[in-house]
Amino acid sequence: MHFQPLTAPVIIGGGPAGTAAAIRLARAGQAPILLERNAEPTHKVCGDFLGADAISLLLDLGIEPASLGAASIQRVRVVHRQQVAETSLPFAALSLSRRMLDAALLQRARAVGADVHRGTGVRRLSRGEAGWQLDTSAGPLNASTVFLATGKHDMRDHPRPGTHTGAVGMKTYLRLGPRQTAALAGSTELYLFPGGYAGLQPVEDGKVVLCAALRHGRFRHWTELIDLLTAATPLLRDRLAGAEVLLARPLAVAGIPYGMLRRHAGHAALFRLGDQAAVIPSLTGDGIAIALHSGSLAARCWLDRQDAETYQRRLAAGLAGQMLLATTLHTLAINGVLQPTALRAVSLFPPILQWFAAATRIRRPLVQQSSPATGGLHPA
Ligand SMILES: Cc1cc2nc3c(=O)[nH]c(=O)nc-3n(C[C@H](O)[C@H](O)[C@H](O)COP(=O)(O)OP(=O)(O)OC[C@H]3O[C@@H](n4cnc5c(N)ncnc54)[C@H](O)[C@@H]3O)c2cc1C
Repeated sequence: MHFQPLTAPVIIGGGPAGTAAAIRLARAGQAPILLERNAEPTHKVCGDFLGADAISLLLDLGIEPASLGAASIQRVRVVHRQQVAETSLPFAALSLSRRMLDAALLQRARAVGADVHRGTGVRRLSRGEAGWQLDTSAGPLNASTVFLATGKHDMRDHPRPGTHTGAVGMKTYLRLGPRQTAALAGSTELYLFPGGYAGLQPVEDGKVVLCAALRHGRFRHWTELIDLLTAATPLLRDRLAGAEVLLARPLAVAGIPYGMLRRHAGHAALFRLGDQAAVIPSLTGDGIAIALHSGSLAARCWLDRQDAETYQRRLAAGLAGQMLLATTLHTLAINGVLQPTALRAVSLFPPILQWFAAATRIRRPLVQQSSPATGGLHPA
């Protein structure tokens, strides 16, 4: 494998965070190396919701989710047992499978000049005399600056705090019956249950995503969770009646450090992006926006010759309020004792849902693209 001479950072991970950084750097005249361990587009544990901030960041990166077939989402329903609270979203939203979205982002990164290596995993990242040393599945590689964008998967020796809490995410795709498909069209539904919640919404090609976030591995099998949820919730029972399950096995990820917000880089030449920098609770559906924003901001900082510590502080300062609100909401939403009261409150006063949806978005997501002339020397 031949890598180009080292100038721009090496990016580990080709999700929204890593690809956003790659696109921004490549557009500024750099040729970053991006290493993505999956050789082919894959599904990821994610609810696939794209809020207004994610959509505007994607458009700015040259990706039009609507032209990829994303489903339009205008309404939100929160459901607990027989209770349903419903309102319109305060912004236009979309829903697109991660397999589709991530493939488009990687393609875009390559098209604008990033050196994208699919099927290359990084096994170890360590510090040596020549800077960062990467032990990759295609051989060793040195880098002066690394953008760590491995998302939900921690790099050996570089763990994130909070993974011991054991929170779990699960997901599958379904095809609903025609009546249920029509009833769900244009909506995202959030089903609350003690210890967690599940989201149901349409994606492209008439499919539907069902994704759950749980406090810990309380359910040994996905079917156990679905059986319990459908037994307790008439609306979900009706939605899933006769549905065809499209994945042979549900996807799962464990040890999600919900609420983690990294305020320090740890090293001046190690930029932590996306879920490696901040893990917003899933019910907000804003993790993709944060990943795109962090990748864009990291690229901008690097092009402006700012070190990782400066970047990490800027990112954390911008996200702190949103993260605090989202984590408080998450704690309330998974509390089985509080769920009935919470549902009554949002049924009586639906604008509160709109306020929460808006207040858990990135406030000023767009960062200006640096001029191609910027860039060059950076902290080792
Ligand atoms: C249950 C659940 C539901 C969610 N729902 C939503 C939602 O509806 N909307 C939303 O906006 N966000 C949602 N999120 C959050 C969202 O999925 C993440 O915030 C987002 O994926 C973070 O992007 P990322 O680029 O940091 O990481 P990822 O998307 O995880 O991408 C990381 C990439 O790095 C690659 N990689 C990992 N390790 C290595 C390695 N060692 N070497 C090379 N490559 C590597 C992986 O293959 C992957 O492609 C949800 C999260 C969970 C857990």
